[in-house]
Amino acid sequence: MISEHADPLARPGSKEVGGQNVYVYNLARALSKIGWEVDVFTRWDNPNKQRVIKFAQRARVIRVKSGPRHYIPRDELYKFLPDFVDDVVSFKKENNLNYDLIHTHYWMSGWCGLKISSLWDVPMVATYHSLGYVRFHTLKAFKKHSPDNDFFRKRISWEKKIAQLSDSVLSTSPYEREDITKYYGVSSHNIAVIPAGIDAKTYYPINKSVARRTIQRPADEKIVLYVGRIEWRKGIGTLISALAKVIEAKKIDTSNLKLLIVGRTVGPEKKEVKRLKQLAQHLGIAERIIYTGSKDASQLRHYYSAADVCVVPSYYEPFGIVPLEAMACGTPVIASKVGGLRYTVKNKKAGLLVPPRNPKGLSRAINNILGNEDHYIKSVSQYARDVVLKEFVWPAVAKEASNLYKKIINKRLTTK
Ligand code: UDP
Repeated sequence: MISEHADPLARPGSKEVGGQNVYVYNLARALSKIGWEVDVFTRWDNPNKQRVIKFAQRARVIRVKSGPRHYIPRDELYKFLPDFVDDVVSFKKENNLNYDLIHTHYWMSGWCGLKISSLWDVPMVATYHSLGYVRFHTLKAFKKHSPDNDFFRKRISWEKKIAQLSDSVLSTSPYEREDITKYYGVSSHNIAVIPAGIDAKTYYPINKSVARRTIQRPADEKIVLYVGRIEWRKGIGTLISALAKVIEAKKIDTSNLKLLIVGRTVGPEKKEVKRLKQLAQHLGIAERIIYTGSKDASQLRHYYSAADVCVVPSYYEPFGIVPLEAMACGTPVIASKVGGLRYTVKNKKAGLLVPPRNPKGLSRAINNILGNEDHYIKSVSQYARDVVLKEFVWPAVAKEASNLYKKIINKRLTTK
């Protein structure tokens, strides 16, 4: 696997570390369990990290020499890609390795993958994790700031090449497949839809009062939860505006209403946190919002279980692992009706879908969940958990990925 900017062993919730890191880590582990040998090549971004680390019986991460060994914003890594390719090629040669297939993650890894797969003459499967075309048009439509046209032109043109030249695209949702066919001009036959998953041993429902004691929140609070990276496109600003509307509408008792925001608040996220704090101050609800900092998975299940509702207010979300984690803990989810969220959060059954960047619509949905009868919430929770366990767990995902890999490898062998 090539996961150029997303180290599978990096701590999620921090410095651009999120879903892709979680995805690559878990998929590699699950593939290792069913017999695949997996090497994940990722950029060496910290001098204290070791070159090679084994993280499952048959899975290793290999840090690649490519640019300075410190954090560099993702969109500035493009210039180091040729060095990345050279070092992967040298590593394979020095260690006398052979690979049957390359699975790339994100467009920059796809860029490297195209070069390497042709050098080694091995097939390549590509997963995008985010589509430049959709991201560009989301930024443009919501007029946050004008996107860097040159950068996006380059990214989109490479994403097209990756779709056209790789042996298969592994897309995480049918909606992403639709976008790839529509915007990148490839046939849907070459795109397999295999979702991301969650670890059911990590995410499961915990008794609400136990969970609240663990995270030190009072039993009588109404808790709205956000989990994830704190960046503009995640729509936390919309959530804060919606919360103010819920309080103003007085449809439910909001005397103990709190919003918990779980995710790293320092480093690159600091600027967005400052903006969100100013917004909450302006709306007069600053004391309702608690920033917990980032938490690891063993703590997160308590946050999900303690919450009355988990909100995923993204403006753009290619897949979204957070709603699955919440659903696995039996917590109702409200998510924007965008990207992969439409696929995972089945409207009205496993949660509610609302238009993106629409505080009024979101406030109505929050009122609806917080003000609803217990039996409705129970049925939503049960359905959500059932859906996750049936469709979105890593062993099932890895089995499907494994079948796809075998098909691609065999196809290459028979055409040789
Ligand atoms: N996450 C975490 N700790 C935090 C915040 C987030 O472990 O403090 C994890 C979260 O549990 C999820 C991932 O980061 O597994 C975020 O993935 P998602 O696909 O929802 O969003 P992305 O980061 O890809 O935009």
